Amino acid sequence: MAGYVYDFSAGNKDMKDLLGGKGANLAEMTNLGLPVPPGFTITTEACRSYLASGDVPPELRVEVTMAVRRLEDALGRRLGDFHEPLLVSVRSGAKFSMPGMMDTVLNIGLNDASVQGLAQYSDDERFAWDSYRRLIQMFGKTVLGIDGDLFADALDKAKAARGVTSDVDLSASDLQTLVAQFKAIVLDVSGREFPQHPREQLDLAIVSVFESWNTDRAKMYRRRERIPNDLGTAVNVMSMVFGNLGATSGTGVCFTRDPSTGVAGVYGDYLSNAQGEDVVAGIRNTLTLADFEELDPAAYADLTLAMRRLETHYRDLCDIEFTVERGKLWMLQTRVGKRTAAAAFRIATQLVDEHLITMDEALERVTGAQLSKLMFPQFDFRSEKVLLANGMAASPGAAVGAAVFDSVTAQKWKAEGKDVILVRRETNPDDLGGMIASVGVLTSRGGKTSHAAVVARGMGTTCVVGADDIVVNAVERVFTAGGHMVAEGDTIAIDGSTGEVFLGDVAVVPSPVAHYLEHGLEAAIDAAGDDSEIIDLVEAVDRILTHADSVRRLHVHANADTAEDARRARSLNAQGIGLCRTEHMFLGDRRVMIERVILAVEPAEKQAAFDALLPLQRADFTELLEVMDGLPTTIRLIDPPLHEFLPDHTDLAVKVALAQARGEADEHDLALLAAVQRMREANPMLGLRGVRLGLVIPGLFALQIRAVAEAVAARLLAGGDPHAEIMVPLVASVMELHLVRDQALEIIREVGEEAGVTLHIPVGTMIELPRACLTADRIAEAAEFFSFGTNDLTQTTWGFSRDDVEGAFFDEYTSLGVLAVSPFESVDTRGVGRLIRIAVEEGRKVRPELMIGVCGEHGGDPESIHFFHEAGLDYVSCSPFRVPIARLEAGRAQV
Ligand code: ADP
Ligand code: MG
Ligand code: MG
Repeated sequence: MAGYVYDFSAGNKDMKDLLGGKGANLAEMTNLGLPVPPGFTITTEACRSYLASGDVPPELRVEVTMAVRRLEDALGRRLGDFHEPLLVSVRSGAKFSMPGMMDTVLNIGLNDASVQGLAQYSDDERFAWDSYRRLIQMFGKTVLGIDGDLFADALDKAKAARGVTSDVDLSASDLQTLVAQFKAIVLDVSGREFPQHPREQLDLAIVSVFESWNTDRAKMYRRRERIPNDLGTAVNVMSMVFGNLGATSGTGVCFTRDPSTGVAGVYGDYLSNAQGEDVVAGIRNTLTLADFEELDPAAYADLTLAMRRLETHYRDLCDIEFTVERGKLWMLQTRVGKRTAAAAFRIATQLVDEHLITMDEALERVTGAQLSKLMFPQFDFRSEKVLLANGMAASPGAAVGAAVFDSVTAQKWKAEGKDVILVRRETNPDDLGGMIASVGVLTSRGGKTSHAAVVARGMGTTCVVGADDIVVNAVERVFTAGGHMVAEGDTIAIDGSTGEVFLGDVAVVPSPVAHYLEHGLEAAIDAAGDDSEIIDLVEAVDRILTHADSVRRLHVHANADTAEDARRARSLNAQGIGLCRTEHMFLGDRRVMIERVILAVEPAEKQAAFDALLPLQRADFTELLEVMDGLPTTIRLIDPPLHEFLPDHTDLAVKVALAQARGEADEHDLALLAAVQRMREANPMLGLRGVRLGLVIPGLFALQIRAVAEAVAARLLAGGDPHAEIMVPLVASVMELHLVRDQALEIIREVGEEAGVTLHIPVGTMIELPRACLTADRIAEAAEFFSFGTNDLTQTTWGFSRDDVEGAFFDEYTSLGVLAVSPFESVDTRGVGRLIRIAVEEGRKVRPELMIGVCGEHGGDPESIHFFHEAGLDYVSCSPFRVPIARLEAGRAQV
């Protein structure tokens, strides 16, 4: 047998690839001796095989038969039996949890005969019919693809006819009538009878789980979360236990710690006489676990014991789905719980303090993405606000946007560039597109474990749920709250850390973590006043970041063009400047000076233009080196094609033509137009730029090199400790570098003599062309350091012009599976990464002490940082605000 089926007792938590997250953890709980209803898992391999061939592998049918028989024998009950029927649930479960993505079918095995058996065996006729109507409803919707509203409406009508508001108030005979109606709906819409044979129900449900892997919303979620498309899902078949067996039964969801703050304790929702999704769907108002404790102290005690065991075992926050059947606790699911960014840091340090994990492990438990979320601004508590409602804080952040009431409008408005907040009574998986498009999500129903809350937390989207003062009218596209009426398009603001909902725009202030990062722990604690949650948070971030700094091998530099940027970078603990782009110094007022350089005809004219620029550049560099005193400061010579400093061709041509039509012609404009025409390039990315400029336009690099050297001399004479380095862009051949370097050494020597100081200014190069990587051994002969320019290297390796491809067709490329993620976001380790490895190896062969860094956007990208660490680089350089993220990830790469 191919081994497509594993009993729960045969797996363990490390088998997520094969058994999916849910299956692996069910197996783990089974082995821990926790009360898990027995069952089995069909592997992701079976799913992949089904998706590839369009058919269930024949071995799977046989293995399912064997597994069902083992289950029947163990429990002494049979699927579809007339007396004591065995019922099962069919549940999806991929390797990575995809909340609400795949639908679960409960009560499989019920039919017109076994429903009687269930009634008899449970001695509860109402329960039996309730279970049967649930099966037809879920099966109809999920497996047969029938619009769920048809069933929901029939249910509502039945309640209205009885004059009750809750489904628990329907009697056995009401439910029996409802079952008949549901079966009629099935026949009517699908053209077939509701399948009576339990094995047929089971097989159809299994296939439907396989197919749910490829629904649009599953694909959309995976794209967003960067989950590969080819993993497939496992299927869990589990014997049913019943939370809908009267008042002593129920179902619930809980966390071992508060998932938003990390505070130790018991958090969750419980609903008595309910099954499955009732808790998270917000159908009836849930009880707290404190209420549950009063209701059923024995089951509650078992639950707390199970939670403690899970936390000890996983040494992390777990979330749990459980059911109580006539007072007996059953564990239906657990996993290491999703959490907010703030909770991730706080939980990690708390677990260290409880001696459950080490500091290294704490570092592994948080991510750069989480840290970056914490750096976002929050609402200004001093600003005037109109409070509309108070809901539950489900996912932190401060979101301001236009209220929208449906997913389609959310996506449309987002595409038009608007910030929107999706307002719903409650969300369901169909709202995913709208949730992704929104800056915030607001619901009037549901708790911290509702669909909206779980999904928003996973996506890092600000979310407030259960704001029950809000009355949503999705048809009229308005909601009312606190005496106000809010229409579609009106601005609202929601605070995902407090649960508050405000009318209109609300001012936002920087986050306490950002404050800490820039001003240090003491300042942040001072600023926090007596808000102990904020103090706990910044202390946790500080401890983990300090630990990351103490273990990491990679240094973190910043890209900074001005003294102001450099100051910011230093305050964020950057260990140097990895890239100072000098072209930014030629913009604004100084643009005319570059124009003069370009237009100069006589060498003397050109020199005069350079001479005018020299003191300005020198002042820039002196200021920069003063801020960066004591730290390496890598200054790149001018890189972009010079026509970027000239006016736009079309604008200028029109201006000249208009002037000529009036019989006037400005000499300067004419000369400029001629220059613009002369310098036009079909592909500027691959034209006259970088080192090529330096070699073709005499005096340009010389000016910049002299300015750097004079700035260094000035700083030395002022008693400073400047560490300037000169970086040559876009080198493809070592000869280019030799020519620039010889000139540079000459100028540096000259300036040193003039000033009477000895100057040491290393000259190195960017490695950003495939040829440079492949000939890195030669280039290392002339380069004192390498810095990978991964943006250009990605462009030239893939032959992608970034500006032309990203918006144009990367989405298609992602759906086609050509790209998992844009190579401009995360470094393409196979291709570009291979070139990087070659260059590192070849370069160090010639010059073992060669300093190697990276200064593209990738220097601040978590995944790329792990690659650079592994590839043996010395530092990454990124924009100042990403420096803390890079410090954290560099630490994580080490442990
Ligand atoms: P999801 O992945 O969307 O959470 P699940 O497979 O966990 O879906 O199923 C949803 C809910 O259905 C569970 O939380 C549980 O309450 C209920 N459920 C699933 N299987 C069983 C079962 N064998 N007995 C009782 N309830 C079940
Ligand atoms: Mg679940
Ligand atoms: Mg470049």
